[in-house]
Amino acid sequence: MVESARRAPGVTVGRGTWVLRAVLCWAGLAGGFAVGVWEGPARGQEDRKGPGRRPQRLALTPEQELELGRQAYRKALQEAGREVLPPDSPEAKRVRRITDRIIKAAQIEPLQREINLRVKDYRFEWEVNVLRDDRRANALCLPGGKMLVYTGILQVARSDDQLATVLSHEMAHALAHHASERVARGKADGVAVLRNKAYDRQQEAEADHIGVFLMTFAGYDPGEAVHFWERMGQAGRDKGRLPEILSDHPSDAQRIRALAKWVPAARAGKKAYDKGRIAPARR
Ligand SMILES: [Zn+2]
Repeated sequence: MVESARRAPGVTVGRGTWVLRAVLCWAGLAGGFAVGVWEGPARGQEDRKGPGRRPQRLALTPEQELELGRQAYRKALQEAGREVLPPDSPEAKRVRRITDRIIKAAQIEPLQREINLRVKDYRFEWEVNVLRDDRRANALCLPGGKMLVYTGILQVARSDDQLATVLSHEMAHALAHHASERVARGKADGVAVLRNKAYDRQQEAEADHIGVFLMTFAGYDPGEAVHFWERMGQAGRDKGRLPEILSDHPSDAQRIRALAKWVPAARAGKKAYDKGRIAPARR
């Protein structure tokens, strides 16, 4: 999620984003992280690098990350009340079917190495609920793996491949500890920075990159990520009501180009993995 480059008047800015922003502000203000920035479990230069293969400073321990996500999730579900769809509703079943496949993909060790995920000492408590709100085309994955999906996005994402595009991207933010990184940066720049935007462009690009690989390894067509964001970009250029997800994810030509570049790499990786050409993890 990132600030909007073209936030149109009258468009609801993501409450999902707001929830996370509130959580981050709360986390910063609570002073729980005054103990210093957590550099991650490993001390090797390589291991300090995040999925973008850049040094990544994190503020939260794995436990803090998990707890932050749990609390925000509980609060969001409480607020949503009866808008939370029952788990056996067709919408919830569809979303769960797709997230289950992506969760499995995220556990593939050769893929974790390929996209440089730092998840070894982390526990993800994946859980997803669908909230009835047809006007909100958005989804959110909190630190630690708790997810909220609004029914509006089910209409905007026209196929399972397109919905997998959105869900993989959101899950990638959690897998890459982007919220923890924002808190770490907030310490340097002041908590106020967290109020301005949730994720920055670099993190968004990483989530796109990770997301394309995740959805591919989950058996979805990564070409649909390009189609989906192209369509969203077009919707942004047209007049009228914008899908909410665009307020966090401006879909410009640079973004589409990057996505399109990763598609063949993700397909080739999946093909190699299916043929057993990617070595299993060293133990
Ligand atoms: Zn994002």
